[in-house]
Amino acid sequence: MKRLTILGATGSIGESTLDVVARHPDRYRVFALTAHRNHARLFEQCQRFSPRYAVLEDAGAADALQRELARHGSPTRVLSGSEAMAQVASCDGVDMVMAAIVGAAGLASTLAAARAGKTLLLANKEAIVMAGPVFLAAARAGGATVLPIDSEHNAVFQCLPGRHAPGAAQAGVRRIVLTASGGPFRGLSLAQMAGVTPEQACAHPNWRMGRKISVDSATMMNKGLELIEAHFLFDMPPDRLDVLVHPQSIVHSLVEYVDGSVLAQLGNPDMRTPIAHAMAYPERIDSGVAMLDLASHGRLDFERPDPARFPCLRLAREALEHGEAAPCVLNAANEVAVQSFLDGELRFTDIARVAEQVLAELGARRPPANTDEVLALDAAARDSARLQLSRCPA
Ligand code: NAD
Ligand code: MG
Repeated sequence: MKRLTILGATGSIGESTLDVVARHPDRYRVFALTAHRNHARLFEQCQRFSPRYAVLEDAGAADALQRELARHGSPTRVLSGSEAMAQVASCDGVDMVMAAIVGAAGLASTLAAARAGKTLLLANKEAIVMAGPVFLAAARAGGATVLPIDSEHNAVFQCLPGRHAPGAAQAGVRRIVLTASGGPFRGLSLAQMAGVTPEQACAHPNWRMGRKISVDSATMMNKGLELIEAHFLFDMPPDRLDVLVHPQSIVHSLVEYVDGSVLAQLGNPDMRTPIAHAMAYPERIDSGVAMLDLASHGRLDFERPDPARFPCLRLAREALEHGEAAPCVLNAANEVAVQSFLDGELRFTDIARVAEQVLAELGARRPPANTDEVLALDAAARDSARLQLSRCPA
């Protein structure tokens, strides 16, 4: 029986994880569930999965959850704040942690799980983008097993030789190719993209996801962040990482070998597949995902990405190649710009502009050497991004 903490339980990845857990009550027991402030949804999850702990970031929401659970005689203990989140990700009662908080807000608890040597199911890509070397050092020092949840990285992991943990030397591997759907604006011109709304940006053709990653998919910053994530997870130099647009999202990524072989992982676009893969690794369990019916799809298409219409992808590649502070700075600037777009205060096409300006200002700084330096750099980049926002017309 594996005891599991889910960080970000009320989100898209959190809900999919609980769906897999519910299919295997004999294998998994929920130790803790955490969320930002959605106490109503967390209450329902607590009633269904009876975790030992429920943690909300927001203290008022935690009080509301506490009252509701007490009224129903629930044994679940309610805590609040980021310290408590790190505790339920790292304490002795936990074997496995799903890191599925969105953005830099997930860094502290994800790092805590890494340091404590947990089996870390990593969905929170922003954590590894902003803190790559610091994160990997923490996982090494703690003896954590990091298993990628991002569908592309999980696909790559499945296609790599043997049963290497991420970061191990990849014998015979020539290149890693991440596939990208191209998002909802794949066919639009830049001029057309200037007027799109948050609702249009969040209407992804193939995946149902949280709003931040949906916008990132629409700008293709998501694929850029994933290039950086792949660089750190698989110890691959930037010139051996590539992106291929594949609108159907059936081929989840590819690994090229020196002998000309190309291995790919395929499946219906449903995050329960990579989640179940990582949860059961190295075994396999049912995920609830329908089997792929290739004949009914008929064809699979591939094309090169267009860096002119998707400048965020170009920026992320530049940040990856430059290294130093650039990935952390890019991530922070993007988070601020995307939130501003979602709030209706920034044009879609200005997300890249803000990111580019902040990157130019701070990207050449030396790389952060520890968690405090990561957080300080993240804060500086956010300040700079907010300043840029005040200069962008709405
Ligand atoms: P989401 O917005 O649906 O859920 C985010 C979760 O994080 C929620 O439970 C929310 O309560 C919690 N959260 C948000 N802010 C928080 C804060 N300040 N403190 C504590 N908790 C907070 O997002 P999602 O789509 O589930 O994505 C989660 C992560 O997984 C992201 O990093 C995303 O890039 C990654 N990911 C998601 C998908 C997907 O299909 N959804 C695929 C690959 C990777
Ligand atoms: Mg992905």
